[in-house]
Amino acid sequence: MISLVLVGAAGRMGRAVEEAARAAGDFELRALVDRAPLPPAGPPAPGRAALWTDDARAVIRGRDVVIEFSSPESCRGIAALCAERGASLVSGTSGLSAEDENVLRAAARKVPVLRASNFSLGVAALHRALESALKALPRGWDVEIIERHHRKKADSPSGTALSLASLALAARGLPAGALRHGREGRVGERPTDEIGVHAVRGGSWVGDHAVLIAGEGEWIELRHVAQDRGAFAAGALAAARFVARAGPGLYTLSDVLRG
Ligand code: NAD
Repeated sequence: MISLVLVGAAGRMGRAVEEAARAAGDFELRALVDRAPLPPAGPPAPGRAALWTDDARAVIRGRDVVIEFSSPESCRGIAALCAERGASLVSGTSGLSAEDENVLRAAARKVPVLRASNFSLGVAALHRALESALKALPRGWDVEIIERHHRKKADSPSGTALSLASLALAARGLPAGALRHGREGRVGERPTDEIGVHAVRGGSWVGDHAVLIAGEGEWIELRHVAQDRGAFAAGALAAARFVARAGPGLYTLSDVLRG
């Protein structure tokens, strides 16, 4: 059994991971951490209140696997705490700064840390499809990324849109400055060496990423739609099983898919 601590347990992703972990059968849920009080509605399970805490320092210990979907400041603190206690970390929070990423890298020198801006298998396949489409097409084809998420999402564009954009930049040999976040006003003709990124917010969209690759008189759309957070939760649990056996290091979902 894998000893599991869940950080951000009151959140949308936290609840999805808790439900998936309870159903999986190979996780022992040791603590549910959130600064918010225990929500009245949640996965129905006896003893849930006893696992609830707002104090990660009081619960995380060596040999735990910690899964966090919370906020950048929480991610930083949890990464440092995992390194101090010898616990493994699966981190899913998006919108991390370069400084936050450095804290994860520092923790990964002591414990296994797996970081992914998107835990779905479909998005991993979308990355591969985009890479091969861009290899097959001339530079004159324009690349535009459109992502849609629920109205409560804090960061824009999504971490997944940014990772698709950085793949497109690398495939085209373009610098980060070639990203064009939205357009407004008399912007003139679209330069070829530009990657457009557009964030749409509203309603309850779980996550939708489309990459349009437009040529003369034809275009391709590569698109992934997450209909249910269970898709991310399953990937996070696969990552948890991976880090439970891994040595210190910074891993990605590709390491899990390679097995
Ligand atoms: P949410 O707002 O529903 O939940 C976040 C939870 O974290 C909240 O309950 C909040 O109280 C808690 N939290 C935040 N800061 C905290 C702190 N300092 N201490 C204790 N608890 C704290 O958000 P969500 O939709 O569950 O998403 C959480 C994060 O995961 C976001 O950054 C989101 O973009 C990201 N996300 C990643 C993936 C992925 O596959 N990697 C998928 C979906 C969402």
